[in-house]
Amino acid sequence: MKRKCPVCGKSTDSATDADFPFCGERCRTLDLGNWASEKYVISSPAFDESMFEELERDLEKHDSGEKE
Ligand SMILES: [Zn+2]
Repeated sequence: MKRKCPVCGKSTDSATDADFPFCGERCRTLDLGNWASEKYVISSPAFDESMFEELERDLEKHDSGEKE
């Protein structure tokens, strides 16, 4: 089966390319990296904001409750 590498467009063959449909390990890694960074961008803002709010509330509790 012949295809084109989705990263660089070079023609690849499932019979000869171990990293099919990518032309090589470099392009396969690049494509995985794109996926990972997209996921990271989507999930990180909401996650970070709620984490900060919880942390701030915790800090306030400690400030008022644990004075000597
Ligand atoms: Zn490629």
